[in-house]
Amino acid sequence: MLKNKHLSKAIQEQCFHKFISILEYKSRFNGIEFVKADRFYPLSKTCSCCGEIKKDLKLKDRVFICPSCNYKIDRDKNASINLSRYKQSA
Ligand SMILES: [Zn+2]
Repeated sequence: MLKNKHLSKAIQEQCFHKFISILEYKSRFNGIEFVKADRFYPLSKTCSCCGEIKKDLKLKDRVFICPSCNYKIDRDKNASINLSRYKQSA
């Protein structure tokens, strides 16, 4: 079923949905706040220093360099900082 591109997408979404449900349950069980970020929120493209959104950031760009303030940071670290601040901005 995973070779069928229409079915495989549905199966992957089901597995991801189950993963999110387990994560939400375990968080609640352990008294940890669960926050689900919007899938289209630009976590990687937003500068964690000034908030500027770099629209032309490609997946191959592993270092984020802000066009506004020239802040340079690892792409994943930048996204994780933005994710930690997500609840405050959403
Ligand atoms: Zn910036």
